[in-house]
Amino acid sequence: MFVPELKNGSGNLTVHPHQTFKKVSTGLPKSTENVSSDNAFNFTFKDYDQLVDCPIEIGNQVEFDFTAAGVKHTVAIYGEGNYDVSILKEDMKIIVENATKVFGENPNKDYTFIIHNVVDAQGGLEHCNSTTLSVNRWTYQGNEYLDFLSLVAHEYFHLWNVKRIRPIELGPFDYDKENYTTLLWVMEGFTSYYDELLMLRSGYYSQEQYIQKLNNSLNYVEGSTGSRVQPLSHSSYDAWIKAYRPNENSPNTTMTYYSRGQLMAAIFDAMIVYETKGQNCLDDFLKALYEKFHKKLNRGFTVDEFKLELEKWTNQNLTEFWSMYIDGTEIPDYKVYFSRVGLNVDYIGKEEASFGARFSDRNGKTMVQTVRSNSTAEAANLSPGDEIIAVEGFRVNSNRLSELLESIEIGDTFKMLIARDEILYELSVTMNGYEQPKFSLSLITTSMEKMLRDFWLR
Ligand SMILES: [Zn+2]
Repeated sequence: MFVPELKNGSGNLTVHPHQTFKKVSTGLPKSTENVSSDNAFNFTFKDYDQLVDCPIEIGNQVEFDFTAAGVKHTVAIYGEGNYDVSILKEDMKIIVENATKVFGENPNKDYTFIIHNVVDAQGGLEHCNSTTLSVNRWTYQGNEYLDFLSLVAHEYFHLWNVKRIRPIELGPFDYDKENYTTLLWVMEGFTSYYDELLMLRSGYYSQEQYIQKLNNSLNYVEGSTGSRVQPLSHSSYDAWIKAYRPNENSPNTTMTYYSRGQLMAAIFDAMIVYETKGQNCLDDFLKALYEKFHKKLNRGFTVDEFKLELEKWTNQNLTEFWSMYIDGTEIPDYKVYFSRVGLNVDYIGKEEASFGARFSDRNGKTMVQTVRSNSTAEAANLSPGDEIIAVEGFRVNSNRLSELLESIEIGDTFKMLIARDEILYELSVTMNGYEQPKFSLSLITTSMEKMLRDFWLR
């Protein structure tokens, strides 16, 4: 909601909280004038974009500060949780400093983290000098705490990649309609790549742990049916109608630009490290985009401009690469890209008996949630929404069903009793084989490759 004539004008904002609320946390600059009544908080904004880019937390949140990379950081936490302020201060400072090192400078004077401790959530939203994070209130211990720090790194990295380095469509925004871009895979994928890389650089993961995470992402992406159907650029462009409106067929037809974009970032990083013999990496490419498009031109880039800049840093023509992996759905030759920088890639996928459906328990009923394309389940005419009642005449619950399906071999046949719209059907099922693409990453120990890997994964 805005007044078009006032969109570019500056203004003041006064917050009068409820009398029991004592704190207001936001990235908006505090106003020195207009200090009116008691319990009023005054802020300024230079235009409408800044106003709506600054969420405001009003309440009795816990607030603390720390300085990192020369920037004052305020953390506002709403809700109880198992966090320790002094530990958070230390760890968040390390993340901030390592993120800033990528670009060599931090454009903000101050930055605000607004954290909501809730029951079941993990996510955030980036802004120019603030972010909101929603996390489980018990996330501050063990492996969940590492996930929290990785989320902090992700949203913080966005202050550069998205808020400043950006496709031309992503700001200034047209607030009247959706803003379409084919480059969300760079915005979210590269940021996902860096949230894990920053955890490695900050010492929270060892090189081995990092490689295991990369291996998991690789198998998730290439093992998904949707990867062979939806190209990255389409996944980006259709985020409004696909990623944010999933249905029961989404696993068959869509791929997340977060994970596949993360792998593209890893490939480009490996290309730059290899081509420059360990002198440069993806950091330098991002820094160049930041200098050129944000600082010099103060605008976003087109796809062609992005590609041209990337071709300079990777020292190759990427037209074929683009049509195969960005606008196409082929599996990149990971072995070629990664082995040159010290990571061996073995293909370990093999044909196994596979039913190809996912189930959920609803009020004691076993319901089909998704059915994979070309699977045993699809060939047997099973559909999402069907209730599975019995196998070979015996009633099953979802646990028993999973156990049973695991024990059946390729070529075996069995009867399955289902209910669809209150009508019973008996399906005759023949178990088929399925080869899910799967890879294994391991370390190469020759000195040149090891040297490049240690520079890449430092
Ligand atoms: Zn993100």
